[in-house]
Amino acid sequence: MSQILKKIITRLPPSPTGNLHVGTARTALFNYIFAKQNKGEMLFRLEDTDKARSKVEFEEDILAGLGWLGIDFDQSKMFRQSERGDIYKKYLEKLIADELAYFSKEKVEKEGDRDEVIRFKNSNKKITFRDTVRGDIEFDTTELGDFVIAKSLEEPLYHLTVVVDDFETGVTNVIRGDDHISNTPRQILIQEAMGAPQPIYTHLPLILAPDRSKLSKRHGAVSLIEYKNQGYLPEAMVNYLMLLGWNPGTDQEIFSMSEFLKEFDLNKIQKGGAIFDIVKLNWVNKEYIKKMSDVDFKKNIVDFLPEKIKNKDENLLIKILSVIKERIDKFSDVTNIVEAGELDYFFGMPDLKKEDLIWKEDGADIAKQHLDKVIEILEKIENFSSENIKENLWDYATKQGRGSVLWPMRFALSGQQKSPDPFTLAGILGKKETLERIKKAIDILC
Ligand code: GLU
Repeated sequence: MSQILKKIITRLPPSPTGNLHVGTARTALFNYIFAKQNKGEMLFRLEDTDKARSKVEFEEDILAGLGWLGIDFDQSKMFRQSERGDIYKKYLEKLIADELAYFSKEKVEKEGDRDEVIRFKNSNKKITFRDTVRGDIEFDTTELGDFVIAKSLEEPLYHLTVVVDDFETGVTNVIRGDDHISNTPRQILIQEAMGAPQPIYTHLPLILAPDRSKLSKRHGAVSLIEYKNQGYLPEAMVNYLMLLGWNPGTDQEIFSMSEFLKEFDLNKIQKGGAIFDIVKLNWVNKEYIKKMSDVDFKKNIVDFLPEKIKNKDENLLIKILSVIKERIDKFSDVTNIVEAGELDYFFGMPDLKKEDLIWKEDGADIAKQHLDKVIEILEKIENFSSENIKENLWDYATKQGRGSVLWPMRFALSGQQKSPDPFTLAGILGKKETLERIKKAIDILC
């Protein structure tokens, strides 16, 4: 028998009561990718029935964040629940006419002037629904009582609006956070009362902090925008978020969007909470930075560069950027590196202390002897590139002991306990500056 396959419709219905949360961003990606894999569509709506907490600036932040991640959807189909009062009213009136909901006279706390709400007439049955992640879930709805679905015909509440919207827009798959699992039985009761079909439910494990508590601000940033502002790459963020609660079952950790479209499997979502691990995120981001061309790297980091670096001449800037690229996990790290003075050797002669120039037990004489020889070798090099410098010095350094030769040379050039290797430094500083710095170090050693 042939079966008519329904177009898969997923949805992302954030409440604009805060900036785009990393959890919502992950939910968005799973909805987006699952829909795309099935040649379906992800719809977007704003659940702004909470008038006091919903703000346009949050709507804008949510949309900008999704755009930054590359999640697109048909904006012409986007709507706000606040614009659909008439539609919800129609459904409420029908439920009341069918005696499946009723006005209930009562005093509502904190809203002394209100004396009526609309309650759903609960038939108090057991409901079983299938969740993609958790399997069959049984729920005795008796404990829910006749729950409130609207404050009035004009003021519907969350459970009613969700069910109406999902029904009216033909949603086939509800993919959302685990925290909504306890809302599902109420929503199924309303669906049944309206004669709406039940979508397939997939409740995603919550994103937890490393201590397995609920992820919150005290663990660091929870808004996507903060990651953008810190200079994480959107591709890296997508990659990282996709691995929160799902893994391919192989060792692969870096995925392009087209690989995710091939590999992602909604049926393989894990049950347990997913840990938001900043160390892993930094690792993923660094992998993406490593893959960037120098031109792209420069274009992306330029807004993060402190003035002191930005104004360097183009050739030197490109060389400095190659050192920075090795050292950072995310673009904003450059500020710390510069502020800590770690790149100061690019901007002027470092201050040198005699004892720092000496490798372990060597003594000043040996350090001086090696630096004299290094100068002799360097003076003969015409093409003063890092590779050439290394090639010319390597045999001498290997014979004499690399630490013994290369430590004083590196320290003479950088004045720092930690810096790139001396060949890289010399290549960046150029022949004249390199020789001057080493000569100055020899003077100090005498
Ligand atoms: N507006 C809800 C939220 O932001 C989503 C509701 C749902 O996915 O059903 O948490």
